[in-house]
Amino acid sequence: MEKIRLGKTGMMVTRLGFGGIPIQRLNEGDAVAVIRRCLNLGLNFIDTANAYTTSEERVGRAVKGRRKDVFIATKTHASTRSEIEKNLDLSLKRLGTDYIDLYQFHQIGDMPTMKKVLDPESGLIKVFEEAQKAGKIRHIGATSHQMDVAKALVKSDRFETILFPFNVITSEPADELLPLCRKHDVGFIVMKPLAGGMLDNAAIAFKYLLQFPDILAIPGIEKPAEIEEIVRIYQGSPKITAAERKKMQQMKDRLGTRFCRRCDYCRPCPQEIPISMVMSFQSFVKRMPPERLFKQGMFEGAMSKAAGCLDCGECETKCPFHLPIREMLKENLKFYEEMKARLA
Ligand code: SF4
Ligand code: SF4
Repeated sequence: MEKIRLGKTGMMVTRLGFGGIPIQRLNEGDAVAVIRRCLNLGLNFIDTANAYTTSEERVGRAVKGRRKDVFIATKTHASTRSEIEKNLDLSLKRLGTDYIDLYQFHQIGDMPTMKKVLDPESGLIKVFEEAQKAGKIRHIGATSHQMDVAKALVKSDRFETILFPFNVITSEPADELLPLCRKHDVGFIVMKPLAGGMLDNAAIAFKYLLQFPDILAIPGIEKPAEIEEIVRIYQGSPKITAAERKKMQQMKDRLGTRFCRRCDYCRPCPQEIPISMVMSFQSFVKRMPPERLFKQGMFEGAMSKAAGCLDCGECETKCPFHLPIREMLKENLKFYEEMKARLA
């Protein structure tokens, strides 16, 4: 597998890495086997998160004995100093390692949160920097779904990587964010290369990304056959044929107005409905065992708020992608209720 330099981290990573969300749905043996298959195919980058339940432990088991062959990235949602310290120690323990190659702030979603992270006096980034000095982490990155926040994070020059959604439907990063990353030498890691499971044509989805020679894509992988197919695409010609270009446009036209980017520009809602969270339900179901979603009550609060939608349409006037938000909220709510009844 061809390697690229991941921005100022200097890490030479394969253009294709492993996204550790869907392995939560598998049994332990299958999860370890699929990660090992990826490593055997030459992938050398694994991304996971403290929040992905069993994912870190499974990654830890899979890389046992070959830790030096792989870069491990993980992340924390924590918003206080002590929680970050606790999360980091837990990640190290679960991963069975004494260092993490890339530690990321998980979903910096708005400017106030970014300020809290970068505050010159009390910024949470200091905890990361101390951990870096102590050798627990090697590099510092951030993840976001919000374009304006992502651009500000890159411009701050405090992060070595950014993990952001980029795919044939959500192609906006190609215009400004990616050039900005190049300017600031920030490594660009591609979240949702298959648009959170919406794109079922891997050949077209990855052909689109192959045009950009300096990005690292981390698809969530559940089965060895999936990664084998993607690796074959990466080994083929990057040239996009006229027929492929046409298919890309068709995908964009068909799905572009039904795909929530989780950018939250539709906020605030008078009923305080967490719109992007409700919209993400069907995609979560594809990546996590539904039983666990319900057991943890992850969507309970969001869905009960969604049931109180006033149908005022205010959110739709703010969505830059012109999504039929009200209709999509209803669809997700219906899907949720049906699944809840089935699992009861
Ligand atoms: S239509 Fe519903 S979700 Fe949208 S702003 Fe109004 S109450 Fe909130
Ligand atoms: S509905 Fe539109 S504005 Fe709201 S999070 Fe999704 S894509 Fe963004």
